[in-house]
Formats: sequence, structure tokens, C-alpha cells
Amino acid sequence: MTETLARSSAPISGSLSADVRAALEACGVDLGAVGGDPETSTAVASPITGEQLVGTRLDRAEDIDAAIGRAAAAFPAWRDTPAPVRGQLVKRWGELLTEHKTHLATLVTAEVGKTPSEALGEVQEMIDIADLAVGQSRQLYGKTMPSERPGHRLQEVWHPLGVVGVISAFNFPVAVYAWNTALALVCGDTVVWKPADVTRLSAIAVDALLARAVAESGAPEGIHQLLLTDAEGSKRLVADRRVALVSATGSVRMGREVGPVVAERFGRTLLELGGNNGAIVAPSADLDLALRGVVFAAAGTAGQRCTTLRRLFVHSSVADQLTKRVVAAYESLAVGDPREEGVLVGPLVNQRSFEAQQAALAAAQEQGGTVLVGGDRELAEEHPDAYYVRPAVVSMPSQTAIVHEETFAPILYVMTYDDLDEVVAEHNAVPQGLSSAIFTTDQGEAERFLSAAGSDCGIANVNIGTSGAEIGGAFGGEKETGGGRESGSDAWKAYMRPSTQTVNYSGQLPLAQGVTFI
Ligand code: NAD
Repeated sequence: MTETLARSSAPISGSLSADVRAALEACGVDLGAVGGDPETSTAVASPITGEQLVGTRLDRAEDIDAAIGRAAAAFPAWRDTPAPVRGQLVKRWGELLTEHKTHLATLVTAEVGKTPSEALGEVQEMIDIADLAVGQSRQLYGKTMPSERPGHRLQEVWHPLGVVGVISAFNFPVAVYAWNTALALVCGDTVVWKPADVTRLSAIAVDALLARAVAESGAPEGIHQLLLTDAEGSKRLVADRRVALVSATGSVRMGREVGPVVAERFGRTLLELGGNNGAIVAPSADLDLALRGVVFAAAGTAGQRCTTLRRLFVHSSVADQLTKRVVAAYESLAVGDPREEGVLVGPLVNQRSFEAQQAALAAAQEQGGTVLVGGDRELAEEHPDAYYVRPAVVSMPSQTAIVHEETFAPILYVMTYDDLDEVVAEHNAVPQGLSSAIFTTDQGEAERFLSAAGSDCGIANVNIGTSGAEIGGAFGGEKETGGGRESGSDAWKAYMRPSTQTVNYSGQLPLAQGVTFI
């Protein structure tokens, strides 16, 4: 067994449900190898029942430093491995992810409370990015440019960066890691992962599968490291000068803390931060389609997606009609244990999320809003330590202060509009810039929304909700969302450094710009 696998399999203690235990074991996690000092171990709770799932090791400062050291030490050998050979490792990882798709989804459901369909979709994203990265491993293209000097060749070559630190959020506990890691590995980097505090089991399983792929493909052991630590430990990773790129996914608050620390040491960041996504429903919209798009985007994953629809602008000519239908749909949404058949909305991740939702609803009402449906806690008697809520729809007179904030819970603020230019300006008036959508059958309107004068977000959709992006298109957003791009298009370039090279085969030494010297 590799050293990395042993680290992955060591830290679990406590009792586990049969399905979680089976899923971990199937992924190669050795539950018998109980590690960690009970005094420094930390618990993972189930959002579905509120029960403590297990205690896991909490890495100490010296463990974090050592893990970064192992990743740094593995870098030269991995850098020098040909990129298509690096791709073979990611190919094998993708095969293992495919084989263990249901096991990983079981862990994601247990830790995050996603429905099995959404959890399976998340694992599928990992498989899809592995596919993309394998192809990318043969396409790390540089350019050649015409030199102004005779007998010279000017070219750009992309080289690996070094150690990449990946910090991930709880709500996409495995996909976002894979978005980064599949590309970083084919680009020749080594990776140190700090998963969210509440999703350590799925992280341990994913890391164990990567360890297996590494062992089978003969790649250097140290190229992937898993840190089981909290935000304090994560700060150590951020500050470490050996980490060339910090790719951090989470709240704007977190990005504000991470960005300056990395900038101070002139490291690189790739920031994927909070969103506050809006959709416009135009008079010509297909309302059946808009209804489904809106409800999935706003209530799916219990409003805990970075791309969750939070602001809906409906043209006044269709506002009553559509709002009534959205409210009726919300009333009929099955809220409950996500593992039960037919349930569409699972729990909030923890009490803090519930309290944030209640505070936002109170603020919205103070600011002139009317709650049309939802917001109440459900199943509290059955699960006193879990937090189920019916997703809320709130009619707002305008975009007040609370509407400018991302509350990471299911609240959809509905507002009306009359003029497209005005509503696009309103849509863009929030600090975040992740995802956006327009529902319309008027192509002119759609094009205006997609133009530079339209949505200012990283993602702009027509007749699709704001959530549910696919691998291949670059994912990320502008303004306070952080400006990062992952999982498609040119995102791979974030994990490499361009080297601009000039080769002189002329036998002369002409200088650029016509400069003469000796
Ligand atoms: P969070 O900001 O609380 O934590 C995210 C991660 O950062 C965790 O691993 C956490 O331990 C770590 N962290 C927190 N403070 C840190 C610090 N100062 N230094 C280093 N690491 C630190 O976010 P969360 O509650 O886990 O996730 C929800 C948030 O993430 C929402 O705002 C959501 O919009 C955002 N999100 C964004 C994207 C995206 O791609 N744009 C994707 C998923 C989630």
C-alpha cells in the first residue's frame, strides 16, 4: 500500500451507517486502520439526521507542512513525465470514479444531504472532467509567432507550475476538487487538497481512489496530498511559499482572506467565490419551460449551489401568472430525507445555514418584502438536530440591501420589470457575477442579454436556469465571484506558466525594434 493511501485510510474512528461503511470500504479506505489522536480528532455530522457520523484525524501544523513538502518533492519527477503519460493516470482515476460512482454518491448524500440524483450528477462531473483532462494532456498547445528578426523563431511553451493547493467548499465536495486536480495533474503539477470541514469522508474516499490510480500507473506517490484540517490549517496552506497556485472555492468572505495572503507572496490564485444569480423572464417566454427552469435552479440542492437562482425578474405582463405557478410548485415540493423516493429538497447543511435563512427572511420583510411561500422549518420533531426548510419565495418591491447578499439557503426574491435595458442594469447591480439567465423566445432580446452590454456574469444562459453547468465550458464568475475559470475551455492555462522563447539561428545578432548597440 502506498504511503498516500495509508494516510488516506488511517484517520477514521466512530460508528458508521452500513451504506457509508460499505461505500468507504469499496473505495479502498481501510476502516480497520484507526488513526488520529482522539483529542485532536474532529467529528463529521450528518445533515440528514444531525447525528455525528465519525471522528476524523485533524492534521496539525507539522502534518500540513510535511504534506506540502511531499507534494513539492514529487513535483520534479511529475513535471518531467510526458504530459500524455500523465494523462494515463487521470484516465485510470476516471475509470475508478466510474466504477465507484454510486459509492461516492452515497458519501456525498450522507455528508451534504443532496438527493441521490444530484449526488450521482456531481460524481459524473468528476468523470467528465477526467475525460476532458485526458484529451487535454495531448493538447497543451503553445503558439509560434512570426519574429520581426530574420532567422529567429519566437514561440510560447507551457510549463507546469509546481504545487497547487485546492481548497473546496462543502456544497460540491468532490466535483470541484476533480475540476482542479484532473487538469492540474495532466499539466504536470502536484496537488494538496483541503476539503470542506464537513465533507471529509467523501474526500478520503476520492483520495483513496486517486492513490490506487497512482500506484497502478507508477506515478510518484507524493503528487496528491489530502489535508484533514479546518480553516486555520487551510491558512497555512495559503501562506506557504511552496504552493505556486491556490485554487480556492467558497464564500466571498473566504476569498477576501485568501487573496491578499497569496498576493503578498506573489503566488497565484484561482478564486471561485459566491454568486447571487439572477434570471429574467421576458413577455415572450415559454412559461412552462421557465417555470421548470426557475424551480430547479432556485430550490434544487436546497438552494445550496453557488449557481442557485436567487433573484427573479419577471416582466409585469406575465408576473402574476408565473409567480402563482412558482408558488404552487414550491407548495408541492417534497422536502425531507433525500434518500427517500420522490424527495426533491433535502436538508440545509447545518443550523448556521438555517439561522442565516431566517435572518434573511426577516430582513427581507423589514425591507418591504412579502413571503409568498416557504421559509418554515419542517420535520423538526423527527430530526431535532437536522434543518429542513421549505424553500421560500419572497415578493420584493425592488432590489433592497438583502437582495444584494448571497444567503446560502433557498430564498428566491421575485421582482417585476417593464424595460429590458433597465432590468439588465438591475440584474448587474449586485456585487457578485457568477451565473445569469434569460427566458425569452425573442432572439433580439436574447442577443442583447448575451452581448457585452448585457449580463456581466461569467455564465449567461438562454432558456436554461442559472445552475447545472456542464464540463467543457469554462466555469466561474466576475466581480466578487473572484474571476477564476475552471473545468473547460482554456482553464488549463491557470495550472501552467507560459515561457516565451526566442531562438536565433541566423548567425547574426539583429536587435528588436531596430536598436543598434555594438
Ligand atoms: P466557506 O467559505 O465557508 O469555506 C470554503 C472552504 O474554505 C472550506 O474548505 C473552508 O475550511 C476554507 N476556508 C475558510 N476560510 C478560510 C481562510 N481564511 N483561509 C483558507 N481557507 C479557508 O464556504 P462554504 O460554506 O463551504 O461553501 C459555500 C460558499 O461557497 C458559497 O458562498 C458558495 O457560493 C461558494 N461556492 C462557490 C463556487 C464557485 O464555483 N464559484 C462553488 C461552490 C461553492
